[in-house]
Amino acid sequence: GKGDGEMPEKVKPSFSENATRVLERRYLLKDEKGSPTETPEEMLWRVARAVAKAEERFDDEQSPEYWAERFYEVMAQLDFLPNSPTLMNAGTPAGQLSACFVLPIGDSMEEIFDALKYTALVHKSGGGTGFNFSTLRPYGDIVRSTKGVASGPVSFMELFDHTTDVVKQGGMRRGANMGILNADHPDVIRFIKAKIEEGKLKNFNISIGATHKFMHAVLNDEDWQLLNPRTGEVVESIKARYLFDLICEMAWRTGDPGMVFLDRIDELNPTPNLGHITATNPCGEQPLLPFESCNLGSINLSNMVSPKREIDWDKLEETVRVAVRFLDDVIEVNHFPIKEIAEMTKATRKIGLGVMGWADVLFKVRIPYDSEEALQLARKVMSFINKIGYEESSNLARIRGPFPAWKGSKWEESGVLMRNATVTTIAPTGTISLVADASSGIEPAFALAYRRKAFEGTANLDYVNEILLDALKEEGLYTEALIEEILGKGSLKDINLPEGLKKVFVTAHEIAPEWHVKMQAAFQEFTDNAVSKTINLPHEASVEDVKKAFLSAYELGCKGITVFRDRCKEDQVLYVGTKP
Ligand code: ADP
Repeated sequence: GKGDGEMPEKVKPSFSENATRVLERRYLLKDEKGSPTETPEEMLWRVARAVAKAEERFDDEQSPEYWAERFYEVMAQLDFLPNSPTLMNAGTPAGQLSACFVLPIGDSMEEIFDALKYTALVHKSGGGTGFNFSTLRPYGDIVRSTKGVASGPVSFMELFDHTTDVVKQGGMRRGANMGILNADHPDVIRFIKAKIEEGKLKNFNISIGATHKFMHAVLNDEDWQLLNPRTGEVVESIKARYLFDLICEMAWRTGDPGMVFLDRIDELNPTPNLGHITATNPCGEQPLLPFESCNLGSINLSNMVSPKREIDWDKLEETVRVAVRFLDDVIEVNHFPIKEIAEMTKATRKIGLGVMGWADVLFKVRIPYDSEEALQLARKVMSFINKIGYEESSNLARIRGPFPAWKGSKWEESGVLMRNATVTTIAPTGTISLVADASSGIEPAFALAYRRKAFEGTANLDYVNEILLDALKEEGLYTEALIEEILGKGSLKDINLPEGLKKVFVTAHEIAPEWHVKMQAAFQEFTDNAVSKTINLPHEASVEDVKKAFLSAYELGCKGITVFRDRCKEDQVLYVGTKP
C-alpha cells in the first residue's frame, strides 16, 4: 500500500490565488512558528486518507485506497468539499470533524454549567453550538435554595457568549452559537431586544421559536399567553401581533432575531421516537436533537454545468454518491468531544449534503435568480440530489446496517432502510465556497465586480465575475471601458447593456425579498434538514417588508428565516446614540 505523504499521480488541485491564501491562513497544518507543514495538495490527501480509513471496517468491492483516491479527486476538482472542521482536523490527533452541535440546557445551576463546559469543549474542537433556552425559569422568578431571584435566560446567554470569546479554536477562529427562546417564554421581549446594543451577544445568532399556534395567533390577531416554564402558570397575556411586530422591528434594525418554525421542524423529525427537536446549529440549517452533531459537505454546482450550458446530471449523480459515502465515513472516524454527543450522533448518523455555487449556475445557464424558471431548476436539482442521496444511503445501509435508531423511526414506518436519519442540508458555505471559488450556498451574487486597494494602497486589485466576463466576450460586448464602468458600479443595473443580460446578472440587493424567500422555500422542499439563507433587503426596506418576508417564509414551508437589511447597523449606531 501507499504510505502517508506519498501521493499517487492524480489531478492537481486548482485552487485560485485567493483560495490558497484562505487555506494557508485557516486550514493547512502548521508548525510551532506558524509556517505551513503541508501543501494544499497534501492537505487534501490527509483528509481523503483519514476519511477513507473508515472503509477498512466494511466489506466493499473496492479497497480503502480506491476510496481515498476518489475522495481526493472530488475535492481536488473542487466538485465537493466537506465542512471546515473536516478539512482542518481530519488525520490530526484532535480529529473532530463536525460543524454542528445542539446542547440541552436544564433549569438548574448544575445543568447550566454542564452545558457551559460542553460548549467550551465543542468550540475548542472547531464546532458551533445551538441551544433552546426556554427551559430556564424567567427573570425575577424565585430560586428556592438561595431565597434569591433568577437572572433569566438572557443573562445566562451572556455567560455562553463570554465563554465563546475566551475559547479560541486552534488559535484561528472563535466559535458560533444559536440561541433560541420560544415565543411563550416570559422573557421573550427582553430576548428580542437582547442584541440591540452593539457588541452584546456578538457570538450569538438569536431566533424566536415559533409554533403553529403562535403563527396562527399572529395571523388572526389573537391574544398570546406567556408561561413560566417552571410552573406552567400564565404570567402575562399580550397581543400576538405586538410580539410579532417587535420581532420584525428588531430584525429590521439589527438583523436579529430570526424565526425558527418549531412545529414545522418537529413534524419532519425523522426520529420522533428519540424526542422533540427544539434547536438548530448556529446558522440555522441543521435542526438537531439534544447532544446530536452533524457533519456537512457541499457540492459545487458550478462545476456541474456542461459546456452546452446544461446541468450534467451524470456527473452530479456520481458526485452525490461519493459525497454521501464520504460523509457517512466521517461519522466512523470522527472524534467526538464528549460521550453523550458520540452516543447520540452514532444513533442517528445524520449527514448534511448541500450545495454551493448556485448563483454561478444561474449565470452560466442564463436564468435570472428572480424567475419561476430558476425556482423550477432549483427544485429539479435539489430533488435529484435528495433522491440519489437516499439511494446511496440506502445502499450503504444494506452493507453497513441502518442507523441504530432506525427501529421506531419514520424511515422504518415507510419501509426504507437508511444508513443516515437525514441526508441533505444547505449550509452557508462561508469559508469552503472561498476555497472552491464558488458563490456561497444558494445565495445570489453580492457584487459582480469590485476594486480593492492593495500593496499599501499603491495598486488596485480588481475582481470581476469570471462568468460575466465570459458572457460579455461571447456576446461581443467586452471593452475595457465597460469593465471600468462595471467596477465602479458593482452591478449592471445602471449600465447600458441588453436587458436580457442585465436580468441574468443580478445581485442580491436588486432581487426583491419575496424571490429570496421563494428560492429558500424551493430548496427546502427537497432538503431533509434546513436551508441557510439570508433574506437580503435593500436599505430602504420597511418593517412591513420584514413582516411580509417572515409570514411568507412560514406560509411557504420554510423551517426558519433570517433577514438582513443593507447597512442597517448604521442606523443602529445613530439610534443608540440618540436614545435617552
Ligand atoms: P464552512 O464554510 O466553514 O464549512 P459554513 O459557513 O457552511 O462553514 O457554516 C456551517 C456551520 O458551521 C454553521 O452553521 C455552524 O454550525 C458552523 N460554524 C460556522 N462558523 C463557525 C465558527 N466560527 N465557529 C464554530 N462553528 C462555526
